[in-house]
Amino acid sequence: PPDVETLGRGTWTLLHSIAATYPDVPSMSQQSDLLGFVKLFSKLYPCWVCAEDFQSYLGKEMPRVQSRDEFGKWLCGAHNEVNRKLGKPQFDCSQWQERWRTGWKD
Ligand code: FAD
Repeated sequence: PPDVETLGRGTWTLLHSIAATYPDVPSMSQQSDLLGFVKLFSKLYPCWVCAEDFQSYLGKEMPRVQSRDEFGKWLCGAHNEVNRKLGKPQFDCSQWQERWRTGWKD
């Protein structure tokens, strides 16, 4: 398997990209699919210590799947929790769409 860093970078890309393409106004079934995906993901993620901590985060902070922006911000918060644990800088969650959806304006 890839190392924990390579796996992590690829996985965050996938997760934030899922947030970026999630509907603004998701149906009930889209909401339950996303919630189910996040819960199964947390059991299957192939870095077991990472998965354990992520599962306990889910227990404290339920995923918010009511809209694209709610989910994107929730995911940003979850990523920041891992950043904090690893001593990496905090990401400004008001900018998640610029990073992952619309592109930086510069
Ligand atoms: P990454 O953290 O991989 O981030 C990639 C890019 O996302 C960054 O360059 C930045 O542009 C952007 N970004 C950064 N923060 C945010 C944010 N909050 N919101 C939106 N975008 C952001 N590694 C461990 O060593 N121990 C662990 O316990 C651990 N747990 C993990 C749990 C999960 C669920 C995942 C997906 C990964 C975990 N990792 C863990 C891996 C770790 O988070 C990093 O992916 C890895 O260290 C590589 O870091 P990086 O500096 O390349 O940037």
